[in-house]
Amino acid sequence: MAKQSVYFFGGGKADGKSSMKNELGGKGANLAEMASLGIPVPAGFTIDTDSCTAYYKNGGKLSKSLVDEMYRNLTKVEKVMGKKFGDPKNPLLVSVRSGARQSMPGMMETVLNVGLTSKTLPGLVAKSGDERFAYDAYRRLITMYSDVVMEKAAGIEPADGEGIRGKLEEAMEAMKEARGVTGDTDLTAADLKELCEQYKKLVKDTLGTAFPDDAKKQLEGGVKAVFASWNGKRAIVYRNIEGIPHEWGTAVNVQSMVFGNLGETSATGVAFTRNPATGEDKFYGEWLINAQGEDVVAGTRTPSPLNKATKLPGQEKVLSLEEAMPKTYKQLVGIRNKLEKHYKDMQDIEFTIEDGALWMLQTRTGKRTGAAALRMAVEMVDEKLIKQDVALMRVAPEQLDELLHPMLDANAEKTADAIAKGLPAGPGGGVGHAVFTSETAQEYAKSGKPAILVRNETSPEDVHGMHAAEAILTAKGGMTSHAALVARGWGKCCIVGCGELKINAAKKEFSVGGKTYKEGDYLSLNGTTGVLYAGQIPVLPAQPDKNKWYKKLMSWADKTRQLMIRTNAETPEDAAQAVAFGAEGIGLARTEHMFFGPDRIIHVREMILANSEEDRRAAVAKLLPFQKADFLGIFKAMADKPVTVRLLDPPLHEFVGSLLDDEKELSNLAKHCGVTAADIRARIEALHEFNPMLGHRGCRLGIAYPEITEMQARAIFEAAAELTKKKTKVFPEVMIPLVGHPNEFRNQEAIVRRVADEVQKDKKVTFKYMVGTMIEIPRAALVADKIAEGAEFFSFGTNDLTQMGFGFSRDDIGGFLPQYLKQEILPVDPFQQIDQDGIGQLIEIGVTKGRSTRPDLKVGICGEHGGESNSIGFCHRTGLNYVSCSPFRVPLARLAAAQAALKWPRKEAKAAKKTVARKKRKKK
Ligand code: PEP
Ligand code: MG
Repeated sequence: MAKQSVYFFGGGKADGKSSMKNELGGKGANLAEMASLGIPVPAGFTIDTDSCTAYYKNGGKLSKSLVDEMYRNLTKVEKVMGKKFGDPKNPLLVSVRSGARQSMPGMMETVLNVGLTSKTLPGLVAKSGDERFAYDAYRRLITMYSDVVMEKAAGIEPADGEGIRGKLEEAMEAMKEARGVTGDTDLTAADLKELCEQYKKLVKDTLGTAFPDDAKKQLEGGVKAVFASWNGKRAIVYRNIEGIPHEWGTAVNVQSMVFGNLGETSATGVAFTRNPATGEDKFYGEWLINAQGEDVVAGTRTPSPLNKATKLPGQEKVLSLEEAMPKTYKQLVGIRNKLEKHYKDMQDIEFTIEDGALWMLQTRTGKRTGAAALRMAVEMVDEKLIKQDVALMRVAPEQLDELLHPMLDANAEKTADAIAKGLPAGPGGGVGHAVFTSETAQEYAKSGKPAILVRNETSPEDVHGMHAAEAILTAKGGMTSHAALVARGWGKCCIVGCGELKINAAKKEFSVGGKTYKEGDYLSLNGTTGVLYAGQIPVLPAQPDKNKWYKKLMSWADKTRQLMIRTNAETPEDAAQAVAFGAEGIGLARTEHMFFGPDRIIHVREMILANSEEDRRAAVAKLLPFQKADFLGIFKAMADKPVTVRLLDPPLHEFVGSLLDDEKELSNLAKHCGVTAADIRARIEALHEFNPMLGHRGCRLGIAYPEITEMQARAIFEAAAELTKKKTKVFPEVMIPLVGHPNEFRNQEAIVRRVADEVQKDKKVTFKYMVGTMIEIPRAALVADKIAEGAEFFSFGTNDLTQMGFGFSRDDIGGFLPQYLKQEILPVDPFQQIDQDGIGQLIEIGVTKGRSTRPDLKVGICGEHGGESNSIGFCHRTGLNYVSCSPFRVPLARLAAAQAALKWPRKEAKAAKKTVARKKRKKK
């Protein structure tokens, strides 16, 4: 039997189910599931995603077998609905909608009211008893069909303002003007009838073909157009941003039409089973009486709240669905409860009420902010709906970023110039310059200026500008409008439905409260409260420790993960911040960062420019107290925790190069060293290297100038000795950078261990310490067994390892990376996410070889990848002991490590868990 391509649903039965998202798309799979659950769903069928791929292979045609299968299923739909497609007396009308595996809100096309022709129109008039409604439906069909099927899907790209949709809208405006009315609803049945005739003529004149007066032709055209919209421009842009594969294809849902615009007993709405912005367990949604679904989503009418509990201040008089149609609302609440219980997650639902009868049109897992994801996950565990492990997987590690998002300074807000209030669609604070087009938002972002995209409403055509903007502000639309959905998905600050704004995009300005604001003016948005301010309000970092759901989820993450989390920090302040975020040690303190302080750079320069060992020793001695004070500070901040200190790494030119353009500093230094400026200039020029990243840096410095290694080791150990005497526990780990040959390591190790012995003897105290190395040169990974004979720990410096493994300069990759990504030569920037296939092999070899000679070798990572969730998963699988990342990425790393442990449980899981538990107990 041929493979099934079309799946029926309706009347309490369905061919598909919710697990079939790959075949039926998210929408189709869930329509099938709802139908099977006995939830009222208008009958229909789903054409699978493989058929989309086949359509493209087939040169943009539907195969005969597919068409036959469609019509066989249409007959089933007719039976359930008691109507016939194309029937003059009791016509069935259908919607044709896209539905990809992953939601792509508004990025593809839809055609509604398919099946209305000159033959079926009288039937709709008779059945609905409303001639005006029938002609309005016909008008909408002609508009959508000519735009989506006859123009866009046909590949016609009209000049600006020449598109068929615009022309039809103009005709409608002209008709309203001629009748002396302002609203669409003021046009009579006779007006609309006449307008439909004008529309058909305009379509024929503009596009050269007539609007099809045949139900089947319309249906097939609609299906093809939805397939074609998978490769529409905005869908491609969206997939690129979201990382959705282009080869997936879309399914098509053909479903019986139900009408929310049949009068005052009809309505339409969109809702979330819990609040998608805060996560609060309150049924949250919006509805419009006497309207079609598109009216809510398009943001052209501002909808009303679903119930009394979610009304905002000022909305007391607005009628909620709960008040207007209490019985139907109760039924909807029942469905909401059923869906949450069944899916065990927050759902985003669409419904229509047709003459008092409730129909569900969609359910899907709802998009949510990071804060909402956290709260829902934790509360659902408390409600025993899900287990802790499921809750941990529910929050994307990157979403925590949002929680750590800056907020407007509440104190500054009190005295700031609040100019309007809208709906709080995307939380956090956003400050930037007003811009009125997506293109301008992109230009601003490119030149490093934050932009606030100000629009009446956004459409899917704006995604690039919305992505580039710091925050989004719209005058129209509700919490489920396009702007709100997209911004929330990206965790972006957003205010919608700010109705007081009078926007004049052509003049690049808007006015509110008698004042006008122009392009470039500063605006500040509080996306959590919906308040808009003129000017620039200071932004404060977030305080996740005040969020009880965050704390609970993170405690579960800590119990689950097997990787330890450290931080890259070299100041006591950063170290303390990282500990507050949950860091369990320092994985990398870059000592060179300590060299740039104004009180020490002069001695560093003196050390670099010294002509003899004696002079250098004298300069180095001056640095010792500074370094020791630095280490005292971080060891104290990290008491009880290991601290990896890396010896000097960068090429020396980096400390002196800028002097060549700074006469004053240069002559100061000359005076300080007792030499001439010309001498210094000559020395600096001699230090210049063609490839400094591959030049005299890392352990090569310590080998040439052992007194530098000595001084750094002495500073570390003297600080350790002092604190040990004061009973503060310190665990210094001295890390030798840029080792490629075991002899390099041995050379530096000998100095470090000698100094450790001397200090312990001198100060009459013993302390624990380790000597290890970075693995950041490919050769080091290959001879890791030899290096590990001496090194007690490894830390993968994946920044340099990627640089040298790929042969891509860390500093110059920007010149060609955009092309590499655009042409899909690389899927992602390898400096952000570990290239697991290539560089990953070097890490695996390094770990295996290293542990072959030292089974208890401690292994970590301290390159940027240590704070990226995919790379953290890789580190977990490769058996690393810890990852180290910047302080603000520590929470992300804790959660990503927990998720990795759940996805790929390690054999030694129990042992690792015990270690974490032991450490925790000790701390108490
Ligand atoms: C690395 O190379 O990954 C590393 C952490 O060192 P740096 O970035 O300082 O070269
Ligand atoms: Mg490095």
